[in-house]
Amino acid sequence: MFHLTSRYQGLAGADPVFALSEAARARKAVSDRVIDASLGVLMDDAGQLALLPTVTQALREVPPDIWAAYAPIHGTSQFQQAVKEETLAMFPGQAPPSVVVATPGGSGAIRLALTTMVEPGHAVLTLSPSWGPYATLTREAGCRLQSIPLVNENGRFSIDAFEQALQDLMRTQGRVTVLLNDPCQNPTGFSMTEADWQAVAASLQKLTAFGPVALILDLAYSAYAIEPLASLGQTLADLSHHVLVALAWSASKTLLHYGLRVGAMVVIPPSSSDLASWHAALGYACRGLWSNCNHGGMTAVARVFLDDELHTAMLQERAPYEQLLRSRGDIWNQVAPVLGLHSPEYRGGFFTVVFCDRAADHAKLLQQHEDVFVLPFAGGLRVALCSVSTSQVRTLAEAIARSVGHPM
Ligand code: PLP
Repeated sequence: MFHLTSRYQGLAGADPVFALSEAARARKAVSDRVIDASLGVLMDDAGQLALLPTVTQALREVPPDIWAAYAPIHGTSQFQQAVKEETLAMFPGQAPPSVVVATPGGSGAIRLALTTMVEPGHAVLTLSPSWGPYATLTREAGCRLQSIPLVNENGRFSIDAFEQALQDLMRTQGRVTVLLNDPCQNPTGFSMTEADWQAVAASLQKLTAFGPVALILDLAYSAYAIEPLASLGQTLADLSHHVLVALAWSASKTLLHYGLRVGAMVVIPPSSSDLASWHAALGYACRGLWSNCNHGGMTAVARVFLDDELHTAMLQERAPYEQLLRSRGDIWNQVAPVLGLHSPEYRGGFFTVVFCDRAADHAKLLQQHEDVFVLPFAGGLRVALCSVSTSQVRTLAEAIARSVGHPM
């Protein structure tokens, strides 16, 4: 008798990124020329995991009884305040009324948003290529992902395709939810311009004449944005009067503590009379999904943001890492066009991509012949600039160019 439900039969299994990273680790044991650009974790130029000592220390100082005790379902009030201040700092003037709830990482925030904002079977609109787990998260939430290409043939954000897809979905579903990861999109390293955001906001706002519209904005990498966030904040503030805005926040990349599993969702409903309903619904959904989150982790994170001295120290410690990513991105932007790689300009974050056919074959050959580990997806290779040293960036680009430039 096979007890696995039909929904879970025939699946590929664990996330391919972790399998790839394991393979890279195994190869490192026998080869010293491995370039491991598989995993979205920030490594310094010596190949060590980048850490922020202030965060490490704050975690150590959390008393044992806090680690041991349950956290409130929505998270502690200090944590909620810290996340509000951190995410809504980009909004002009007074922060809009919102509900904050603790989640296990940004993944938890996205899962919770999908569960509470998307009707079963409905499509959620996103840009392609997108972070692979979006498909898993939507499926687990009982909905599905619909993608339109991020950029058109001129390498510009496809606002026309976006608007058309919005209208089609509104016609068939009577409501629309959009999931965007910006700035510093994973996997492309693309960040939308101020004009792109204004066009997106105008399209979403126009659509509200026909039914409810929600925007889930995945801010996983916003701490590494190259452009200031003020104009995005202004756009979101204006939009939030019409469209439900949900911000998915994560300590994984923001504080370089991926294993801590601390994240949050901030919901800004257009009407503040809906706040109580959202508070109740989110608490209920959390209880049914994971109960409550890591109490010690959220306590330390709240302290780092709310204590001015710790906050300043954390920002000072993170600044060189932000710079490190930019330096790697700058090198990529210089060499990729010269090598003829079909790669959008790196505009911040942990990754870039090389668009190519037969990406899975290229990824395999790169492993076999070049000791290079990159993640294939339909239409390209994801390159984790975050996890290679600055001195490896050019070699990495050259190896990829040798492979994708070679007819198979
Ligand atoms: N969103 C994107 C685009 C990501 O790449 C990640 C992590 O890799 C996340 C969200 C959430 O990460 P976590 O669940 O570790 O907070």
